[in-house]
Amino acid sequence: MRQNGARHSPERKPMAEQKRDYYEVLGVSKDASADDLKKAYRVLAKKYHPDANPGDKDAEAKFKEASEAYAVLSDPEKRKQYDQFGHAAFDGSAGFSGGGFSTADFSDIFGGMGDLFGDLFGGGGSSGFSGFTRGTAGRNSGPLRGANIRQTVRISFEEMVQGCTKSITYNYKEECKTCGGSGAKPGTQKTTCPTCGGTGQVSYTQQSLFGMTRTLRACSDCGGSGKIIKEKCPDCRGTGYITTRKTIQVNIPAGIDNGQAVRVAGKGEPGVNGGERGDLLVDVVVSTSNHFERDGYDVYTEEKISYATATLGGTIIVKTVDGQVEYKVKPGTQSGTRERLRGKGIPNVRNPKDRGDHYVILTIVTPTLLNLKQKKALAEFADAMGDKTYGKR
Ligand SMILES: [Zn+2]
Ligand SMILES: [Zn+2]
Repeated sequence: MRQNGARHSPERKPMAEQKRDYYEVLGVSKDASADDLKKAYRVLAKKYHPDANPGDKDAEAKFKEASEAYAVLSDPEKRKQYDQFGHAAFDGSAGFSGGGFSTADFSDIFGGMGDLFGDLFGGGGSSGFSGFTRGTAGRNSGPLRGANIRQTVRISFEEMVQGCTKSITYNYKEECKTCGGSGAKPGTQKTTCPTCGGTGQVSYTQQSLFGMTRTLRACSDCGGSGKIIKEKCPDCRGTGYITTRKTIQVNIPAGIDNGQAVRVAGKGEPGVNGGERGDLLVDVVVSTSNHFERDGYDVYTEEKISYATATLGGTIIVKTVDGQVEYKVKPGTQSGTRERLRGKGIPNVRNPKDRGDHYVILTIVTPTLLNLKQKKALAEFADAMGDKTYGKR
């Protein structure tokens, strides 16, 4: 049998008093690579995610602990600070606590966690996951939160820069008005489950290494509720819900990136036994742009300039995400020069006032197919420069 020493050890201090080492939390060594960290976190996040452990406070605390550890260690700058100062690096005014890690960070956008959630829900959408909820319902016949529903929306690069509102249409379960959600035919009552006698649990005995053991298991006939429906409601066939196609408007914040999802609270599957509804999680897919290349919150464009403009200087028009701007090319610009247009990048998804930069890569275009007059002018220029190499084979 597996011993869980840490968990039951009497010396263990409450988490609030003593924070565990972040590497220990993730179960990785101090020199773990970014990939190792991600893998370790994935496993923990999946195991302890609140959606997979409804109402389990211990799992929730572990999920937060792992998320916090990952948030720090996956950021090279924060990891460096942590390695040097430990938890003290993030106490008081020192950066991290100001920017704040809290569960609030997860309420609207899953920053960089989208891929994890993708794994968690197996991409199977609502059907796969609601099965899961029903499965766990037996363990606890108290209120259970409904499952989350995942939907995907595609937005253009421009919509990503501006932020946008998208219509999402999906299958939404609403309480059946005929039976008020009970699933029983109007005028009939639910009756006590004969299998479990209304307790919602059945016991079974099993021969094990330690002799006969008696275990309680959720009653499969009533799903742990202790009641069964004798005459099903004809409108919902006993489920208590009517499924409709529902369309809602979802605000997609500017700056969102692939792999991130927007959460719409309370628009998921209905809860069980009076539990609250799950959430709608909208995975956002951002189309690539023909013109802009994104790197974090910065954008890159290539601007072709003539040899004369590069040499003598000049003014070119650069298309930014805000529209066209004039850009002065300095005399003597070399090909491949990178110039920064500060604050012309993509808005930060958490703070739209904080924007990345636009980097312009200036590329000099060598003229081809010159006519006689042009060739002559260039040869004169080369002679004036004392250039002895041109035209030689
Ligand atoms: Zn009904
Ligand atoms: Zn039963």
